Amino acid sequence: MGLGITRCLHCGAPLPSAERTTRPRLYCSDRCRSRLRRWCENLPAVEHEAEFLEDVFHVPRDPDEAVLYELLALQNSVIVLRSVARRARPVVATRLADIAAVLEGALRKHFGSVIGDGLREGTAGRPGGNGGGA
Ligand SMILES: [Zn+2]
Repeated sequence: MGLGITRCLHCGAPLPSAERTTRPRLYCSDRCRSRLRRWCENLPAVEHEAEFLEDVFHVPRDPDEAVLYELLALQNSVIVLRSVARRARPVVATRLADIAAVLEGALRKHFGSVIGDGLREGTAGRPGGNGGGA
């Protein structure tokens, strides 16, 4: 299953065509992957932040996994917001629906087929529960 990410998350270069791997490809090369990793390691504040996010919000420490985790979380937020909007008072419901629409638009714009049909009703999943055994 492709993720629909077509450009390297570090340098923006087009990604080589996907091979059969258990993990989705996010970088054009090992060099870019390690560059980003080094960049993170050289910034103690970022590392501290990653530790905090893992402890408090269960965001994976691995940058690639963190990206996927957050995309799924945002996708789920859209679905939850829509559902809550249907039960909320009208004055709040329109605002929630608007936020959901903006968020969905941004997800579709930047990650296209990553989210695919994931934004249909009743498809909310748990972040981290979609690892595909990787
Ligand atoms: Zn790259």
